[in-house]
Amino acid sequence: MASADYITVAVRVRPAVAREEKSSVIRMEGATTELLDPRTGAVHRRFTFDHSLWSFDKEAPTYVSQQSVYKLMGEQLLESALEGYNVTMFAYGQTGSGKTFSMLGTADEPGITPRFVEGLFNSCALSSSAGASTGFTPTQGVSAGGASVEVSYMEIYMEQIRDLLNPSDSRRGGLKVREHPNRGPYVEDLSTTVCSSSEQVTTLLNQGSAVRSVGATRLNAESSRSHAIFTITLTQREIIEEGGEARVSERVSRVHLVDLAGSERSKRTHSSGQRLQEAGAINKSLSTLGTVISALASDKGGHVPYRDSVLTWLLKDGLGGNARTSMLANISPSTADFAETLSTLRYADSAKRIANHATINVDPSQKLVTELKKEIDTLKAKLASM
Ligand code: ADP
Ligand code: MG
Repeated sequence: MASADYITVAVRVRPAVAREEKSSVIRMEGATTELLDPRTGAVHRRFTFDHSLWSFDKEAPTYVSQQSVYKLMGEQLLESALEGYNVTMFAYGQTGSGKTFSMLGTADEPGITPRFVEGLFNSCALSSSAGASTGFTPTQGVSAGGASVEVSYMEIYMEQIRDLLNPSDSRRGGLKVREHPNRGPYVEDLSTTVCSSSEQVTTLLNQGSAVRSVGATRLNAESSRSHAIFTITLTQREIIEEGGEARVSERVSRVHLVDLAGSERSKRTHSSGQRLQEAGAINKSLSTLGTVISALASDKGGHVPYRDSVLTWLLKDGLGGNARTSMLANISPSTADFAETLSTLRYADSAKRIANHATINVDPSQKLVTELKKEIDTLKAKLASM
């Protein structure tokens, strides 16, 4: 039976950069985030999230490191993925608020995505066998089988999809979203790479991220204007003995790790031609995301316009669908960003009202087998205690 899971929502405030003031308009205590009036220092708005992550001051005892962000936000997603759930995590916030730092990070301070990948391969107790199957022993479950990890990496820019792991595919209009009757939306012709080590995945992640910013420069655009979606498909195989016959059952979990485009409103005066069109297209995906979030949060059961933008169509499962989802809302500590910060906090506040309905992706007969096994175990335990 599917159970409702609310989206896990965390807010993270980054340190002051460059010429920003050394104080912050943000105060955090426990799960609470307060936005302060810059002139009076009084509380302007107070919000409560699953986590309020203080990364403003590296010297402070309350400083939340990359490692801690992963522990609080990434680890539970990894556990869910290993159990067979679909998982989505997205980083939201204005340009310069710390989305890419949080998701990708640096070589010295890796972010959520490389840590997730490392955790995934560590849990998968890899064998040295070559090829797709990594032949690991599942953490919970049956005696034999294997797992494979496939990755893809795309960018959505002006409602067009580009393959960051196959940049030579520069067909006009980009790649297309299609919908599979059982597996849901996917990108046709997007390249996937089977990976057998976390190093291999991280190399692809870095290569694709470089393509993202180089492409942006070439197009006279900014990488902050595109959404980047890194997708890991984990397939876990179990061998099941049934009446003397062995058969293979598969659990497939799809993991989307998303670095969204900057959420700031385009400055009208600077927008013309390409830039204006671009702002419209970005607003389309982000504003549709906002509409989808409001529709889901309002609980009225009305029409949810997933298909109005490429982003929401592809993330459909992660928004009120068959996935466990987390959102990291990144904010700036600066007075100058007060209005954008308030808007991000409001956005995050409605996201926490979304309930997903996640189920493990196994075939139905396998579900029955699992349930029967549990029952047998319970009966055995009862017998043993008699
Ligand atoms: P975005 O992707 O949202 O546009 P970035 O991740 O590029 O923003 O962050 C902007 C700048 O702030 C970068 O120089 C980044 O290294 C720095 N930064 C962001 N968050 C943190 C943090 N938690 N700790 C240290 N530096 C950070
Ligand atoms: Mg960025």
